[in-house]
Amino acid sequence: MISIDETDVPSVEALYKRLLDRSPLPLPGFESIVESKALARATRIHDYLLDRADLVGVDCYLCGEKPARKSETRWVYETPWQEEEVPKHFCSEECADIYLYEEPFAYFWCDPCGREICQQNPRNGWQVQYRDLDGELVCLRCYEGHILENGVEREKLEAGQIPGMFFSYGNPEPLDAGYEEIDGFSNFFVRTADQAEAFRSKALDLMDQGYRVVIGYERMAIGGLEGYVTLLAKRADLQEEEVIPCEA
Ligand SMILES: [Zn+2]
Ligand SMILES: [Zn+2]
Repeated sequence: MISIDETDVPSVEALYKRLLDRSPLPLPGFESIVESKALARATRIHDYLLDRADLVGVDCYLCGEKPARKSETRWVYETPWQEEEVPKHFCSEECADIYLYEEPFAYFWCDPCGREICQQNPRNGWQVQYRDLDGELVCLRCYEGHILENGVEREKLEAGQIPGMFFSYGNPEPLDAGYEEIDGFSNFFVRTADQAEAFRSKALDLMDQGYRVVIGYERMAIGGLEGYVTLLAKRADLQEEEVIPCEA
């Protein structure tokens, strides 16, 4: 494929002039038709060339050797919390696919929000940015919304897991959604099986009493061998404005 530079793409005006120069002289009265056709054509040619042009001064994100091409720019979200998509520039479809869909980034499609998101956040300790929700990968933002609305999944607790997530410092997200911290289970240290069991059975107890439960990860040791977790709950049958304190 011929490689053209973005700056080499002729302007619409230049193309328009060239097209007009080449067209036969129109019959008197048809000038405007010829002109508007030439302009439309010039615009199409310009867009076509620009789309195939190299991006000036930008190398392919993956191979770093060939210049990136406009037509191979992909728009994705690096984290679920990003408001705007960011462009990733590549030289070819092949480079784009390897970068986006193979390790370590492995972008995935989150169905609930309809966005293509990086599975891990390289700027935040490679934190995993998705969760399994009924067998589907969903992004952390969607998962958080789901958890705040429904509480954590009982099956995960029963299976011996402590299904939580990192909220902002002080757990404002669940607190704003009407959840309250449970006395004795804030910043609860879990290292032994007994401690994990005590935490899980408290969560299951609360569920039995009709509470929705969320779990905030406060601090986690690398590898997850120990950590501090906070249990929050709210009555499942209450609206947010009529929350009553849960008994500890
Ligand atoms: Zn490349
Ligand atoms: Zn999502």
